[in-house]
Amino acid sequence: CRRVIIDSILVDKPKGVRIFMKKIILTGDRPTGRLHIGHYVGSLSERVKLQNTGAFDEIYFMIADAQALTDNADNPEKVRQNIMQVALDYLAVGIDPSKATIFIQSQVPALAELTVYYMNLVTVSRVQRNPTVKAEIQQKNFEASVPVGFFCYPISQAADITAFHATSVPVGEDQEPMLEQCREIVHKFNEVYGETLTMPEIYLSKNAARLRLPGLDGKAKMSKSLGNCIYLADDEKTVQQKVMSMYTDPTHLKVSDPGHIEGNTVFTYLDAFIKPDSFEKYWPEYKNLDELKAHYQRGGLGDVKIKKFLNKVLQEELRPIRERRAYWEERLPEVYEILKEGSAKAAAKAQQTLDEVKASMRIDYF
Ligand code: ATP
Ligand code: MG
Repeated sequence: CRRVIIDSILVDKPKGVRIFMKKIILTGDRPTGRLHIGHYVGSLSERVKLQNTGAFDEIYFMIADAQALTDNADNPEKVRQNIMQVALDYLAVGIDPSKATIFIQSQVPALAELTVYYMNLVTVSRVQRNPTVKAEIQQKNFEASVPVGFFCYPISQAADITAFHATSVPVGEDQEPMLEQCREIVHKFNEVYGETLTMPEIYLSKNAARLRLPGLDGKAKMSKSLGNCIYLADDEKTVQQKVMSMYTDPTHLKVSDPGHIEGNTVFTYLDAFIKPDSFEKYWPEYKNLDELKAHYQRGGLGDVKIKKFLNKVLQEELRPIRERRAYWEERLPEVYEILKEGSAKAAAKAQQTLDEVKASMRIDYF
């Protein structure tokens, strides 16, 4: 009988089959550029914490090159180059290949095959209603010229998640509609073909400021495709320059003017990155962020001082990441091996799921 593990507790399923449910993580990133601090607060830092709890049976981190090609078909070299950049960023933030499998999506052929079968379970109007897809089509000026592959990427994401029987998917808030879509596919598949796929849960960062970090311009979310990012690989000087150029409060012209916190990117970043001892270390005049905010709102506090403080807080967080990145940059052949081994392992696991799927669909003829 098939066995799955839920919190290591045995549960009785209908038909009298004893089912274990393993705790499995799957998540990933598109290799469309180096990773930025939005990825870090929205997803990467949480992943590393989850990885180090030891509470998960299997962990998969996918470099989604096939998905990146859905809106970069004419720029395959960009995607190719960025696979290594994303891998370096993973290792830099503390993803540990002895605890987690890092793999390249295109090297796992079963994912494409699963996508084909799942496509039959989703309507065009359902994908059109997906708010993330809608926003991205607009942002990329696709409208009627949207590539079919791009349009279908929520379905291919469902294949990625279910291929590994993932139970937890730690991602940023923008991915919530994708998880919902995936859950619908799982539900439909199991209903039509019998209990086969595992129902995944989204794992969202608890800190609201970390859910969706805005870009330096304060307009959209920080995104590789919009060029409004502080990258994990940026050197100290670049980070400082970017922080000093950040969008704050356009009505706060003179230092004595009362300032606004809402929509003020510098404060959003402080909300996301501040540590309990940050004030004690770098700005002992204030006890905490509330005191600083109150002073800014009263007036009499200039943007430059706050930016200098934010810069110190950010540099402290980014320094060890930068150092680990430099270590791995010296060892590219080893990184290449990690990707190769991870991809082989992922391919075997996904093939197993594909076999189960085809058996449930009764298209396992030979
Ligand atoms: P692209 O512009 O190519 O879509 P991206 O910057 O949006 O790139 P993705 O690879 O699409 O990055 O996202 C990877 C993960 O990082 C997802 O879990 C996503 O939710 C999260 N993420 C991306 N941008 C942010 C952000 N600004 N704040 C919080 N989380 C983010
Ligand atoms: Mg994105």
